[in-house]
Amino acid sequence: MSFTFKRVMHELRRRKLTVRATQRVTPEMLRVTFAGDDLRNFTSAAPDDHIKLFIVQENGDVVSRDYTPRRFDTGERTLDVDFALHDAGPATRWALAAKPGDTLEVGGPKGSRVMEGEPDWWLLVGDETALPAIGRTIEEAPAGTKVISLAAVTSEANEQHFETRAQYEAHWVHRPAERADDPQPFLDALAKLALPEGDGFVWIAAEAHVTRAVRDYMRGERKRPPSAVKATGYWIKGRADASEKFED
Ligand SMILES: Cc1cc2nc3c(=O)[nH]c(=O)nc-3n(C[C@H](O)[C@H](O)[C@H](O)COP(=O)(O)OP(=O)(O)OC[C@H]3O[C@@H](n4cnc5c(N)ncnc54)[C@H](O)[C@@H]3O)c2cc1C
Repeated sequence: MSFTFKRVMHELRRRKLTVRATQRVTPEMLRVTFAGDDLRNFTSAAPDDHIKLFIVQENGDVVSRDYTPRRFDTGERTLDVDFALHDAGPATRWALAAKPGDTLEVGGPKGSRVMEGEPDWWLLVGDETALPAIGRTIEEAPAGTKVISLAAVTSEANEQHFETRAQYEAHWVHRPAERADDPQPFLDALAKLALPEGDGFVWIAAEAHVTRAVRDYMRGERKRPPSAVKATGYWIKGRADASEKFED
């Protein structure tokens, strides 16, 4: 089987949403469910799409941060966003304080990178910030598709279970939050991971240093062709509002 990617653009809109509920998915993952009529024509065509959350700070300045539309229902007009909790940052602070009735402006997704065709298997590698996209990919995978995930969290209590019709194999790495920029736990786990035969697709999203090292390993030692590896640094340790695309 083979696959390619198509870029699909969406009408860029800002939506004003209201918090309906908050819930701890795990101790370190907070789900905020938004609702609002503005969601009636919300579109997100790929599981690793992102939206921009516009956070109004105490001094009135507005900052934006990227998050994954974890789940949405245009009929019910709801949207879930999962926040990986960490020490600092306006988006994380906003989520921790969010309560029903609060409002937030959200922009996008501007576009989606949609897969056409189907790889023989998927390998999804990521840290806590990638779990929303990993979860969506697994849940949306067609029945029988081989999907392997390797995700890092701080403890067993922070592992997530995903419902899927895919043939799914989950691997978890535990490392402390202070080591979230250290690729070694991922590289050790990957060295023990057998990959299926055939035309696979590798998706990587984590702290940028981790992403780069995992991408280099998959392209080097594991000889995956560059076009079959998509790697994004979802955040950069020590820098606010930072991400990194590793384009070929
Ligand atoms: C395409 C895309 C999709 C994303 N989807 C999600 C998602 O669905 N859920 C999610 O939780 N995150 C997601 N992220 C990551 C998220 O945008 C960043 O973690 C963001 O920096 C958080 O904003 P903040 O305001 O809390 O912190 P910032 O103000 O941006 O950063 C403050 C400090 O915290 C550090 N920091 C940022 N993120 C983390 C972290 N996760 N752990 C430890 N330290 C951190 C920064 O290095 C900086 O020193 C996504 C990123 C991208 C590019």
